[in-house]
Amino acid sequence: MKVPRYLVPIDYKSVAHYFTDVLILGSGLAGVRAALAVDKSLSVAIVTKGAELEICSSTRAQGGIASVLDPLDNFENHIADTLTAGAGLCDERVVRFVIEHGPARIHELIDWGTHFDLDDNFHLDLTREGGHGFNRIAHALGDSTGKEIMRALFVQIKNRPNIRICTNTFAIDLITADNVCYGAILYSPQTGMKIVWAKQVILATGGSGQLYRETTNPEVTTADGMAMAYRAGARLRGLEFVQFHPTVLYLAGGARSLISEAVRGEGAYLIDKNGYRFMPDYDSRAELAPRDIVSRSIVAQMAKTNSSCVYLTLKHLDTAFVHRRFPGIESICHQFDLDLAKDNIPIRPGAHYMMGGIEVDLDAKTNIEGLRAVGEVTSTGLHGANRLASNSLLEAVVFGKIAGEGASIDAKNSPKDYVVFSLEDQCVPNSGMPLDTDDIRNTLKSVMQRCVGVMRDKDGLQEANDTFMSWQKFINDYQFKFPRGWELQNMLTICRLIAHCALIREETRGGHSRSDFPESRDEWKKYTVVERVASGDENDISEPLDN
Ligand SMILES: Cc1cc2nc3c(=O)[nH]c(=O)nc-3n(C[C@H](O)[C@H](O)[C@H](O)COP(=O)(O)OP(=O)(O)OC[C@H]3O[C@@H](n4cnc5c(N)ncnc54)[C@H](O)[C@@H]3O)c2cc1C
Repeated sequence: MKVPRYLVPIDYKSVAHYFTDVLILGSGLAGVRAALAVDKSLSVAIVTKGAELEICSSTRAQGGIASVLDPLDNFENHIADTLTAGAGLCDERVVRFVIEHGPARIHELIDWGTHFDLDDNFHLDLTREGGHGFNRIAHALGDSTGKEIMRALFVQIKNRPNIRICTNTFAIDLITADNVCYGAILYSPQTGMKIVWAKQVILATGGSGQLYRETTNPEVTTADGMAMAYRAGARLRGLEFVQFHPTVLYLAGGARSLISEAVRGEGAYLIDKNGYRFMPDYDSRAELAPRDIVSRSIVAQMAKTNSSCVYLTLKHLDTAFVHRRFPGIESICHQFDLDLAKDNIPIRPGAHYMMGGIEVDLDAKTNIEGLRAVGEVTSTGLHGANRLASNSLLEAVVFGKIAGEGASIDAKNSPKDYVVFSLEDQCVPNSGMPLDTDDIRNTLKSVMQRCVGVMRDKDGLQEANDTFMSWQKFINDYQFKFPRGWELQNMLTICRLIAHCALIREETRGGHSRSDFPESRDEWKKYTVVERVASGDENDISEPLDN
């Protein structure tokens, strides 16, 4: 596979140049939290491709943020639950670090104006989700936790004169030389191409749910950050570990809305089309088993009953409580003439969270100097092969702070003048015949859903891998002039890498399920790693790493 170093040729003399101490790509929780950790004496630019800051996964988060906030709970319990979900691939040092820093980060969110829901005694109203052995999920506005946290943090960043926000601005590529990152190539429809030179760059572009036909993620999650980091020489690992959320609303023509895990946490049952509660047949934790187990069980039960979905039922719970506790989900159901408390709610699994990503250390540093990464775009070692519910918002705030503080120190210690140079190794312009990007995009998502979905096998993965490799021959160096085209190139790059990693991992572990290798195997207790070789050859896949 030949992946070009840069997606667009840049005439360095004809584009606008900007300068900032810290450049942050992405305005979700990870990017915003990082920005707030940068010293106020430094200039920060937050770049985001959506028309509004709010367009990101963070604002969609429903269930909440996990942390040890009850005196009867303890760090060891939360660590144990996280390690169990991670299926042998978590880095215990990272798990301990994140969990022990959790309470302080959540109290900081409260100090910054986040209103978490309180119980009758005005204590945090903590709930439980699948895989957690204790009530430790703080939530807000019932089931709109992300919206409330981001509301509070957007107020904070708008009050910081050193932070500049650029919406509608697409990051195309990172600028590097000799494995050091110096900034990024950006595009906005109003001003065209520009280069932002920065002393430090933080990548916080989120996940990759849009690689699949069925997903809970917003339109912006096209894996741009992972792809641009890959082109720049960053190490990516564990890309085969995709978490499918078991309960995504399944109504023809309707948006694929997530029905939060908290609904099962509060006691909802899963039933099949015959009204049979099937989860106890698959796992003793029933509806509260980890997500991969629930997703696989649903797919198996759908096959067994020959149906395209199963149902959530809350009929046995108090109606007033259900409506009060889940107002957001209730209003979505209401649009389809369903009552969450009284009707069976049709659901099936959809791509929800990417455990794999850019490898970073405990300082949020990548293997490229001057480049940190934070949030869903990373693989920190917290989630291993599978994420425990509500641990990702936690990871974003803990690592966001680390990334912002570290970038701040390094920017202060770097020379006063910026390093500016003309770009080398640029792609050869190739416009060729017109390409229908939407058609390719939809087909790609269908191939991912069918061949690289909840249940995988060698034949399907090989088909996906071969298909993506053949498409890359004419799409990779095609010269697009608009974000949909660059997104397609990014999606294709990461789809091919996911299919490849899933193909070589001949076992079932965490979010990666192989029907032809249904057991976990000790020799696979390690990460797959991919890294672009400088020549852009096909030979870009490294050996698995020992964990
Ligand atoms: C429906 C839903 C519910 C969830 N519920 C929970 C929950 O209850 N608890 C929990 O812990 N986690 C939850 N998650 C997961 C969690 O929300 C995400 O993992 C987390 O918010 C990711 O934060 P982030 O900052 O890394 O990415 P995001 O919040 O997705 O932000 C990424 C940002 O990068 C920008 N961007 C992307 N590409 C480019 C580009 N090329 N140029 C410029 N900008 C770009 C995007 O526009 C966006 O601003 C949920 C996710 C979804 C989708």
